[in-house]
Amino acid sequence: MSIDSEFSFKDDEKLEFETSSNVKVYRSFEKMHLKETLLRGIYEAGFEKPSAIQQRAIVPITKGRDVIAQSQSGTGKTAAFVIGALQSINISSKEPQALILAPTRELAQQTQSVVNSIGDYMKTKSHCCIGGKSIGEDIRVLDFGVHVVTGTPGRVFDMITRRNLRTRSIRMLILDEADEMLSLGFKDQIYDIYRFLPPATQVVIVSATLPSQVLEMTTKFMTDPIKILIKRDELTLDEIKQFFVAVEQEDWKFETLCDLYDTLTITQAVIFCNTREKVKALALKMIENNFTVSSMHGQMPQKEREQIMQDFRDGKSRVLITTDVWARGIDVQQVSLVINYDLPISRETYIHRIGRSGRFGRKGIAINFVKSDDIRILRDIEQFYGTQIDEMPMNVSDLL
Ligand code: ADP
Repeated sequence: MSIDSEFSFKDDEKLEFETSSNVKVYRSFEKMHLKETLLRGIYEAGFEKPSAIQQRAIVPITKGRDVIAQSQSGTGKTAAFVIGALQSINISSKEPQALILAPTRELAQQTQSVVNSIGDYMKTKSHCCIGGKSIGEDIRVLDFGVHVVTGTPGRVFDMITRRNLRTRSIRMLILDEADEMLSLGFKDQIYDIYRFLPPATQVVIVSATLPSQVLEMTTKFMTDPIKILIKRDELTLDEIKQFFVAVEQEDWKFETLCDLYDTLTITQAVIFCNTREKVKALALKMIENNFTVSSMHGQMPQKEREQIMQDFRDGKSRVLITTDVWARGIDVQQVSLVINYDLPISRETYIHRIGRSGRFGRKGIAINFVKSDDIRILRDIEQFYGTQIDEMPMNVSDLL
C-alpha cells in the first residue's frame, strides 16, 4: 500500500484550478430537490445546513455530471458525495449503482458508515470490500444485493473479476482522496477497475489536495467535468493553530513528547511518524515509560486494526501513534491535537495530517517536531500554504 510510503517535494507544483463559472450555490438541503427519505436521513445525521462544498457539489453530482471537487479536510466532502450518490440510486434495484474507492481500509469503512447513516431512511444497502476481510462474506453480501459499494482497489477488483460485484448497473465511480488514488501506487488498479464499468459511468473525484499533474490525468476518464474549488485562503486553516518545537536532534523528540503527554490526553491526539518501524518503536518506548498509547499501521492484521480504530473512536484510547495510513480522510471529531513526530515528506501529506484535527470548524492544534535540518522543510510548508507556524508556547494546552 503506497500511502505508508514516501513522497517527495516538487518545487513547481501548482495546486489551484478555477471553479467552473456555471456552479450554482444551494444554501439549504431543501433547495437541492432531494428525495424525502434522503433529506430525512441528512437531518437525522444532524446536518442542518450544507457546508460550502456541499452547497456546490451535491446538485451537479445528482445531475449526473462528472465532478472534480477540492476543499480542505473536514469540510464535508464525504457527506457531499454520499448525498449525491444516494440521490441517484434506484432503491428498488438490488444491483450496485455507486462505487466509492478509497486508499485505506479504514477510510473505506468510515465512508460505508456515512452511507449507512445518511441512507438509513432510504433503506440503502451497502457493502465495504477491503483486504484482510473474509472473501466468503464479501461474496455472500454482494450476492444478496447492495446499492452502494465502498472499498479499496485490490479487493474491489478481485470481486469484479470473480463477477460477484456486478458492474452493469454502476452509474457512478467516486474516487475519494483522488490524488492518492491516481498516484503511482494505485493508478493501474483504478484503470483496471474503470475498464469494467459501463462506458457512461459518471466519475466524481474529491480530495483536499489535487496537484496539477493529477488534474491533467483526469481528462482521460472524465467528460467536461464541473470543477469546484474552495480556495485555500477561504478555508479554515486558521482554525488549526500550527506550532513547532525545535528538537535539534532525534533523541530529543521522545522527551518532548513525554512532556506533552498530559496535553495530548485533554481530548484526543494523533501522532504521526514516517515509518511503521518508528511507530512500533515509539509506541513500545512510551508504554515502557508507563504512558498509555495505542498504535496502528498498515501491516497489522485487519482485526487488530479494527479494534484499535473502534477503541479510538469510542474514546477508550486517547493517544494514537500512526503512519500516513491515518493521514487522509479519517474523521474522529474529538481529535484536536496532531503531532508530527516526523515532518511529512510531502506538502500534501502535511495538510492531510493536520486536518485530522479541527474537524468541521472545530478548534485544532498541530505541533511539529523539527530537527535543525528540518527547518527548511517547515519553511517550505509555511510558504506553500501561506501560513504561519510559530514556536510552541508554554500554555499550549490552554488553546485546546
Ligand atoms: P471531509 O470529507 O471533507 O474530510 P467529512 O465529510 O468527513 O469531511 O465531514 C467532517 C465532519 O463534519 C463529519 O463528522 C461530518 O459528520 C460533519 N459534517 C459534514 N457535513 C456537515 C453538515 N452539513 N453539517 C454538520 N456537520 C457536518
